[in-house]
Parts: sequence; C-alpha cells; structure tokens
Amino acid sequence: MSKQVRVAIITIGDEILYGQTLDTNSQWLSIELDKAGFSLVHKATVGDKEEDIVQALDFAGRQADIILITGGLGPTADDLTKPVLARYFGVELVPNEAALQELKELFRQIKRELTDINIAQTHLPANASHITNRLGTAPGIWIEENGKVYVSMPGVPHEMKAMMSEQVLPRLKEKFHVPEVVHKMIKTIGIGESWLAEKIAPWEQQLPKEIKLAYLPSPGQVKLRLTMSGHDPDAMRRAIDEQVQRLQPYAGKYIYGYDQDEIEQVIGDLLRKQQQTLATAESCTGGYLAHLITSVAGSSDYYRGSIIAYANEIKEKELGVSAVTLQKHGAVSEETVKAMAEGVKRRLGTDYGLATSGIAGPGGGTPDKPVGTIWIAVAHPHGTATKLLNLFKNREVNIRLTAIFTLGLLWRILTRKD
Ligand code: ATP
Ligand code: MG
Repeated sequence: MSKQVRVAIITIGDEILYGQTLDTNSQWLSIELDKAGFSLVHKATVGDKEEDIVQALDFAGRQADIILITGGLGPTADDLTKPVLARYFGVELVPNEAALQELKELFRQIKRELTDINIAQTHLPANASHITNRLGTAPGIWIEENGKVYVSMPGVPHEMKAMMSEQVLPRLKEKFHVPEVVHKMIKTIGIGESWLAEKIAPWEQQLPKEIKLAYLPSPGQVKLRLTMSGHDPDAMRRAIDEQVQRLQPYAGKYIYGYDQDEIEQVIGDLLRKQQQTLATAESCTGGYLAHLITSVAGSSDYYRGSIIAYANEIKEKELGVSAVTLQKHGAVSEETVKAMAEGVKRRLGTDYGLATSGIAGPGGGTPDKPVGTIWIAVAHPHGTATKLLNLFKNREVNIRLTAIFTLGLLWRILTRKD
C-alpha cells in the first residue's frame, strides 16, 4: 500500500453553520476524494468569523496534507476567506495578473464592464496562485506552505464542482502520487439488503482481500460497490470484472445494471430494443412513476402516457374498472390494480400497462388495510402480474418506493428473470 494522503475539508459560511443551507459541498467533495484514493480525515463547518476560521485552519493543518476550503470567496464584506488566509500566512493581498486577465476575458465575452469590486476579486494572498473559475468571477486559490497544500474554492456548488474536477483534483493527484482507485457499482433490485447478503455470502467469502465490498442501500434497491486501489488500473479492472462474473450465479437475477445505469433507463432500453410500448395508470403515486419514466431522454420512443386515476370515478370512466370491482374489493385491492393496468394498456394501445393503488399515508389506513398497503400491477402481452407491498408510514417514502418496485416488476417481466 502506498502512503495515505490525508485531506481535511473546511466549509465556511454562517448559512451553512445555522443549517439554512445544507452543506452539500463537503458531501460531494468527500465522495470525489474517496473515489480518487485520498483519505479524508476531518471535516469542519465554521461561520463567517475570523477566529473560527483560523482555529479551523490550525486544526486541519495538523491533521492533513491537503486542506480544502469552500465558501466565503465572494466580493462582499462577509466573505472573509481571502483576507483571513493572507493574515494567517503573514502575507499581503496583492493583484494577481493571471487572474485579472482571465476575468477581463470573461467580461469581454459577456460584454460587461469590469467594476472595482470585480477587480478586487483578483487580489490574492501573495503566496497564492490562482485557479481558474470557468463558471464565475471569484478565482480559486492554491497555496503551498510547509509541505501542505491549501485550496480555497467558491461556495457556489456548481462553480466549486467544476473547479475541483477539472483543475484541483488532477493537480492534487499529480502532486501526491495517490494510488489509482477502481470502482465497480453493481445495481440490484427486488431484494432487500439482508437477503442479498445471505445469498451472496459464499461469493463474499472468496473475494480477494484487496477487493473491498460495500453495500449501499437506496430506496428499493441495493448497490454493491467493489473497490480496489493500486498502480495498475487495467489489472485491477480485470480482477474486479472476474468477481462480477463469479457473482452471477448467486445474484444475477437481481442485477439490472452497473455503474451509471438507472432502472428507468435500463427498462427504456429494453422496450426500445423490443419495439414495445408502455403506459401507466397511477393512483397513489400521482404521476411520480410517469416522472421517473420520462426523466430518461428519448422516452417518447416507447412511453405513450399516463392516466392519473386518483378518484374512483376516474378509475371507472377512464380506465374501465368496473363499479362492482371497486364496490366489492375497494380501490386498494389486487382486483382494482389489475383492472387499472389492463385498462390503461387497452386505452392507450400499448404492450405494457403499469398501475399503482395504495394508502400512501400518513392518514387513511384501516385495520385490514393499514397505511403502507399498496398494490402494484404490470399488464403484459401474456397476462397481468400483481404484487402487494407492505410499506411504511411515510408518504414520500411510500410514493418513491412504489414507483421503484413497479419498475422492478416490469424489469423482471421484460427480462423474464422468474
Ligand atoms: P459568492 O461570490 O457567490 O459570494 P462565495 O465563494 O462567497 O461566492 P458563498 O458566499 O460562501 O460563496 O456562497 C455562495 C452560495 O453557495 C450561497 O448560496 C451559499 O449558500 C452556497 N454555498 C456555500 N457553501 C456551501 C456548501 N458548503 N454547500 C452548499 N452550498 C453552499
Ligand atoms: Mg458569498
């Protein structure tokens, strides 16, 4: 193993400290640093207050080789990072010619006049070099002192992300010779974490110790991440791929994709390939299923539309669910959801029809149909599959899970995994 390269993150801003703005910067940075093979050792959030920033710098400087700072780079008086860094290192803020030229070029392109405030933004601590901010006016700062690197980036998330990915991370990797890290994400649906763990235990036991396995549960899905670090990425990729092959007999029927694949896009690709079409009839998900399906670019190739049938009357009139079925079994029943799926498939003339009907909560439950009782159905060319979900008390969670499980059921049918 190569030597660990230790990183600390400091996010600056009163709004972050008081919780008015969620600190998404440090979360994103942590993920990127981990992927790139750095060891994150410390995170801190401080307000716009000089003593607190100085203390955070002192502490982080003792813990880490690299100190990443976000926020407080703007031109306003509450943005303290630059003057504080200058005082911290005992240097002046001085005009930075390279930063000024870049800013002039940016303003020329957007046909605006530079103001004094803009020009002041290009004054940097004398020991700093500037980092291009492709998306904003405040340049980043790179300082090397006592063998450590201090990087200060804007607080605005999209500016920070571009600066980090395009410039800071490549420079840090080069300077610190971090080992390469290879990841493979294996995405499963239709099985819970503990059941999956049980099924794949024999595979897990034979994994070489250089390959690390992590379970990453997300609503309705479990992702398995394999990670290896070293200096030969091709060999690492081969070793990981071999393990992915070995996993197939244990979990193949739950694996819908890898890495960037998402279930809604995988389903779309299958439908397009088979030249088949899809429609949805949504009660408790209220359009969320349609939203997921249409968030995939090109979904018009296979998706025809939705009938959001919230009221029983609409289930009857628009989907052809019989009044008798609704009377006898209720809206939340296998019979109704089956009739909804078949109804929308017929009405919109598609090959597949999806339907959801349930009690999303928090109110509306009864003793025999408590909150979280949800039926889903997939009408397909050879019949209709239904499934009862016993979910939770939380409305938002139930809506999301229902949509994911419905897509999971469709995927199972499209790939004939049963
Ligand atoms: P600006 O020139 O816009 O003032 P700046 O570098 O001074 O840039 P901040 O003032 O700290 O950045 O924040 C700019 C915006 O970015 C604000 O909307 C702020 O809430 C948001 N922001 C700052 N830090 C974070 C963070 N850690 N996570 C998410 N958003 C953040
Ligand atoms: Mg600001």
